[in-house]
Amino acid sequence: MNTSKSEALFEKSRKRIPGGVNSPVRAFGSVGRSPLFIDHARGSHITDVDGNTFIDYVCSWGPGILGHAHPEVIEAVQAACTKGLTYGAPTKKELLLAELIHEAMPSVEKVRLVSSGTEAVMSAIRVARGYTGRDFILKFKGNYHGHSDGLLVKAGSAALTTAVPDSGGVPASYTKNTLVALYNDRDSVRELMERYPDQVAAVIVEPVAANMGVVLPEEGFLPFLREITRQYGALLIFDEVITGFRLGMGGAQEYFGIKPDMTTLGKIVGGGMPMAAYGGRAEIMDMVSPVGPVYQAGTLSGNPIATTAGIATLEILKRHPEYYGEIERKAKRLAEAFRERGRKTGEAIWVNQVGSLLCAFFTAGPVQDYDSATASDTKAYAEYFGRMLEQGVYVAPSQFEAMFVSAAHTDEEIEKTCKAILEKV
Ligand SMILES: *Cc1c(COP(=O)(O)O)cnc(C)c1O
Repeated sequence: MNTSKSEALFEKSRKRIPGGVNSPVRAFGSVGRSPLFIDHARGSHITDVDGNTFIDYVCSWGPGILGHAHPEVIEAVQAACTKGLTYGAPTKKELLLAELIHEAMPSVEKVRLVSSGTEAVMSAIRVARGYTGRDFILKFKGNYHGHSDGLLVKAGSAALTTAVPDSGGVPASYTKNTLVALYNDRDSVRELMERYPDQVAAVIVEPVAANMGVVLPEEGFLPFLREITRQYGALLIFDEVITGFRLGMGGAQEYFGIKPDMTTLGKIVGGGMPMAAYGGRAEIMDMVSPVGPVYQAGTLSGNPIATTAGIATLEILKRHPEYYGEIERKAKRLAEAFRERGRKTGEAIWVNQVGSLLCAFFTAGPVQDYDSATASDTKAYAEYFGRMLEQGVYVAPSQFEAMFVSAAHTDEEIEKTCKAILEKV
């Protein structure tokens, strides 16, 4: 595989862009390779600047549930562009999208559109604090909620302490209101709630954790969070930036039958454009300015082009409810191929899969939280990544990311991918 043009661009990019990339995981650091520079993508395929084409399971980290450049979405966006790129004034499309979101997720009675998942979560937390008059946020180790200061934390040295920054440039004072519990560990949540009974504004959780690989909530974990937040007067925030419109139109809240107080959305909701959203019960969302005292704003919020891409994507999904069953069936087929590889080669492989999300961990498993996920052999993952690339399959350049199946992946491509998975050096 010739990647000389990508390598040359990477060399030059590193001089003008930190690490040559605009988001760290793109640098391929954990798989010890030079990143591919992409020229274009269509359907299930992505093509780099050297003309290599791959079956793509990164799907831009989640937005691409319909595959790339869906003709209907592109046509809608092109038409919208001719009407101007931004007005900084309300449009009918924002209303339409808000209605589509509410229809899919009835718990989201009111919604604000923003420009990234980070912004959605940051704003939701501010609103939760404003609504409850409390300062603490409880999050889970290994869950990712974007890069806002208060959430870039790792658990403190002793259990039951507040968190410490996990990034340079974050003052310790910015994370002192963040508590960190363990995913799927009810006792860790209960202990923190008991310790700070009137201080936790919200528990925020990825209902399916998809930023430490894919980790499913154990039976009863989400109902427990619903129950204990009610008991202590805290809000339950589902960060559905990945799961929203991915596990079904109604996201994880529909899939698992839990009604959160607030929801954050991103990725699919923007149809491939920079857009995200946060919403929840009307009385909570009415805390937001100009109705309430919690300030939140954005020059490009509800941007007409992004809104158009989001609406087109959601309408296609609404028209094709069968897509969800199909992508789930395909993800199951891939999961089976990984298990077969484990049986054939004797490698320790553990697969977690739900809907069209899956992750093969190079560990004996089971993988149910951060510590068991990070027990994976990342060197084995890097080797697997390289072999997949050489066989024309583009998977995440990190063990701790999901494999995303889209409606554009054909059965033939899935079988080709299964063959690549089983082809071990
Ligand atoms: C991607 C992601 C975010 C952050 O979204 P950005 O648009 O990258 O800022 C937040 N939460 C979850 C669960 C995510 O997967």
